[in-house]
Amino acid sequence: MTDKKPSVVMFSGGIDSTAVLKRLLVETDKNIYAHHINIINGEGDGKRLIAEAVTVDQIVPYMKKTYRDFNYSESTIDILQINPLIYNFPRLMKKRVWDYDDDRKNIRGYMWDIHVCAYMGSILANYIDAIELYSGDRYDPAGVVENNLKGCDKIAEGVWYPHKPVTLTPLNESKIKSIQYLEKELLDMTWGCRKPQGEAWPYTICNECKTCKQIETALSETS
Ligand SMILES: [Zn+2]
Repeated sequence: MTDKKPSVVMFSGGIDSTAVLKRLLVETDKNIYAHHINIINGEGDGKRLIAEAVTVDQIVPYMKKTYRDFNYSESTIDILQINPLIYNFPRLMKKRVWDYDDDRKNIRGYMWDIHVCAYMGSILANYIDAIELYSGDRYDPAGVVENNLKGCDKIAEGVWYPHKPVTLTPLNESKIKSIQYLEKELLDMTWGCRKPQGEAWPYTICNECKTCKQIETALSETS
């Protein structure tokens, strides 16, 4: 292990963060601290959480063996617990809190994943005296992600001293480039679908969610 100051990499097991993690392991000698958050937000009836957990369990040992060793940790955040208290969420969804039944699976986490990642990532970065934090989402021309990234910086500013700007993953490269960068064995291990189908793992992808569509488009342009 290196004595360099750590770089924190938020890792979901999707194509983007897998490509970033591989790039940092292969092309740099940075002291990598990869971190995965089990975000309990009800997405995909709670199956996305499980799909990602299984995925990172496969990818992390693979990368350590294939590229080089790195530090890895996980945390769990239950966002569903605060949803019923949030005014904006039901308003946004044009529903009132009491329109939902008690089944928490039906309540979709209102918080952006990247804000959760910025929060936990910054806490970790502060704790281990990191020099940088890789987090975020694919750049979105509509500006949604760009604005959320500003939020990430504000969050980091609050809990990480001295705070550094959050580095947007996947380093402004296209989905196609990320896909091409991953060898098939690794690409096949990644999971991106937000609405996994089936009763138990291994799930199948839905082919309909935003991420499935992005991957489908990128794959068709790659072949
Ligand atoms: Zn999907």
